Amino acid sequence: MIKVILWDVDGTLLDFKKSESCSIKNAFRVFSLGECSDDTVKVYSDINQSCWEMLERGELTKEQTLIVRFEKFFDKLGIKNVSPREFCSVYENGIADTTAFIDGAYDTVSSLKGKYKQYIVTNGAYSVQTERLKMSGLDKIFDGVFISDEVGYEKPSPFFFDYVIKHIDNVSLDEILIVGDSLTSDIKGGNNMGIKTCLFSPKPLVYDKNEYKINYVISSLDEIVSVLEKG
Ligand SMILES: [Mg+2]
Repeated sequence: MIKVILWDVDGTLLDFKKSESCSIKNAFRVFSLGECSDDTVKVYSDINQSCWEMLERGELTKEQTLIVRFEKFFDKLGIKNVSPREFCSVYENGIADTTAFIDGAYDTVSSLKGKYKQYIVTNGAYSVQTERLKMSGLDKIFDGVFISDEVGYEKPSPFFFDYVIKHIDNVSLDEILIVGDSLTSDIKGGNNMGIKTCLFSPKPLVYDKNEYKINYVISSLDEIVSVLEKG
């Protein structure tokens, strides 16, 4: 029986894409780079995604990831007169100020409060993630928050999950479920640790069944209730 739920944040509870888009567009205005189209946001978004995957594979440090994504983005757009570091700082502040929920997120986690222990497990910058959780009111619902910056390791590292599980009292591995939208960080991390996994995938996703062991797939967050009844 599931007693503990580990929730990913970005793309699972909070709509990171929406925050990302608002914040990139705002940073373009701040640095007088002209209008930033949705297509340009998409270019950034893909670069950002690939940089975070490099971080997950241990090819970049967190500090490098934050800056390198903007260096690559500026290279691609031919922007030469703006510091990636300064742009990053404006962008990160913007992200912290924007809260957009994934449909049903707040109601779902509120309805489970008290019935299950719920924790946040997120990769990301400590100050940004803390601020977003506070702004969204999610911080009051959860029994604890684990941010990779503070833990010292990123998902999917077993060291990250080892730290998390050591800080949760009286629970065995088969009583823990991780819910997240990422195969490479959430599902792989859960598999590394031997806990149950639930992929949140609003759109159907094809994946390698030898590479990832997924116990449940949900396309909307309220489906988690029936997963927990089965679990
Ligand atoms: Mg995610």
